[in-house]
Amino acid sequence: MRIFKEIQSIQNWCKEQKVQGRKIGLVPTMGYLHEGHLELVREARKHCDIVVVSIFVNPTQFGVGEDFEVYPRDFQRDSSLLEREQVDAIFAPTAGEMYLPDFSSWVEVTGEITAKLCGASRPGHFRGVTTVCTKLFNICLPDLAFFGQKDAQQAMVLEKMVRDLNFPLQIIRVPIVREADGLAMSSRNVYLDAEDRKQALVLNQALEQAEKAIRDGERDAGRIKQLLQEIIGSSPRAEIDYAEIYDAYDLADIQQIDRKVLMALAVKFGKTRLIDNRLVEV
Ligand code: AMP
Repeated sequence: MRIFKEIQSIQNWCKEQKVQGRKIGLVPTMGYLHEGHLELVREARKHCDIVVVSIFVNPTQFGVGEDFEVYPRDFQRDSSLLEREQVDAIFAPTAGEMYLPDFSSWVEVTGEITAKLCGASRPGHFRGVTTVCTKLFNICLPDLAFFGQKDAQQAMVLEKMVRDLNFPLQIIRVPIVREADGLAMSSRNVYLDAEDRKQALVLNQALEQAEKAIRDGERDAGRIKQLLQEIIGSSPRAEIDYAEIYDAYDLADIQQIDRKVLMALAVKFGKTRLIDNRLVEV
């Protein structure tokens, strides 16, 4: 497994791979890897000749007062996990390598898709994500790029960017990987104390019960939103950032559940903000 820290060297290496006719799969991550990330890697391994995993805690997608400085990092552990998954290369640049002092070019997807949910709660977040992914795509030249359904809005925004700007690659979404008790895996779960960890189960429970209500015939989006809020509200430590239901394709508002919908949650437990979601097709 190759470990690259410099843009020029991995870009040259990826160019060579392409000249040899190899299909490159890219898995962008911020590190502190768990089974969710490894599922993306395994999916990439299935579809591609070369698997590149980037590990980069991207400062431009964190807002002021968010957890950039304390975001968990463990490169040694990450690289041994990736070695076991037979990853071909890790790209782990420094922030200074990715953003030169005079950096001033941004890629931004506008409209409802970035204005709602995490776009509303975390101003500038998606601009940071789309900019860093553009850079990673230009550096690693992937044919396929793998993203988790865990960050549903991120995947939607990146799919839109790829369509709008004709990036020569395809985005592959990988389903959410959960702990045995249903909590969606996240690098941020390590922030939770024992009581928060227990109460955090309410996210998946709310999504499950809301899905059941839809399957049982509820078609009023407002009622489903209310149900999500009630269930999460039953957990004394949970502070809802959002609990919403939108059109799954473009996040348009809906009154009636008559198409594929995305139920999306962001809930804080103390300082830890967790997200989860579920797609439901009627
Ligand atoms: P992160 O390191 O949190 O930026 O995540 C890197 C990639 O892994 C993103 O595409 C995430 O959506 C994906 N990911 C994170 N957690 C999970 C999970 N529990 N299941 C599936 N994919 C995940």
